[in-house]
Amino acid sequence: MNLTFLGTSAGSPTAERNVSSIMLDLRQERGRLWLFDSGEATQLQMQKAKFSLSKLEMIFLTHLHGDHLFGLPGVLTSRSLMQKQSALTLVGPKGIKQFIQTVIEISSSWLTYPLNIIELEQDSLVFEDSKFRVEAKLLQHRVPSFGYRIVEKDLPAKLNIDKLKKDNIQIDSHYTYLKEGLTVTLEDGRTINGKDYQGAIKQGKKLAILGDTIPCQASIDLAENVDLLVHEATQEQALEAKAIERGHSTTVHAASIAKQANAKRLIITHISPRYSLQDNQKLVTEARSIFANTEIATDFANFQI
Ligand SMILES: [Zn+2]
Ligand SMILES: [Zn+2]
Repeated sequence: MNLTFLGTSAGSPTAERNVSSIMLDLRQERGRLWLFDSGEATQLQMQKAKFSLSKLEMIFLTHLHGDHLFGLPGVLTSRSLMQKQSALTLVGPKGIKQFIQTVIEISSSWLTYPLNIIELEQDSLVFEDSKFRVEAKLLQHRVPSFGYRIVEKDLPAKLNIDKLKKDNIQIDSHYTYLKEGLTVTLEDGRTINGKDYQGAIKQGKKLAILGDTIPCQASIDLAENVDLLVHEATQEQALEAKAIERGHSTTVHAASIAKQANAKRLIITHISPRYSLQDNQKLVTEARSIFANTEIATDFANFQI
């Protein structure tokens, strides 16, 4: 799993930062891309980062403020021009369906692939298959804003073939049973327990990508024990009152959530245009005073999970 920040600015873009969008690259795990938020110029940022629109499988919107939304029509309609067509699922707060329908109709645009829209009004399980599970919870912002917890399911243990060979065990006819950790009786009369020949279960990764919010319990729940938490940090701690008044968090708020949730790693993003890249050190240092394993996102920064 790989996370690339396509935009990291709050509210409006700057010369250094585009507005919110994050790509979760699951090409290794499932051959597809999952996009979180789609601020203005997201499709251009995707091109620069070499992400193909045709590989998009899911788009998750945290909320419908323009700095997270205004790039969506371009992403959806340009995707219709791609040669390879596949269905796309869009998840977002209630209102997203009307927004898309209106934009398509007014601009005389069209989509050439099936678009499945899931509108959220409350905490929900929004996606689940054999490999992944995505849960959404309502945060606290000026408009309904959701956070997402993405869980990769554990991969089943593999059989330790070397150990089986060493013990002179022919597994051909018992493979499935041994793999499931069951006890079998071999042709030579020996009884063996599959559990003794299983390797370690490969633990799936967990991450939380949260929308704009003030510190809240839902954030802690979503980020519980995750390998990586992406949390907004619109302001420095000195501007705490201003942050809260506008429904946002500070560097220290984000770090406190990571700490309370027992997350392994924190990336702060959604940085106010008042700060230039030269302020990164100051902002990240504030967060690290509470949660040491913090990094600050910049556009096109890439994180392996
Ligand atoms: Zn925002
Ligand atoms: Zn917002």
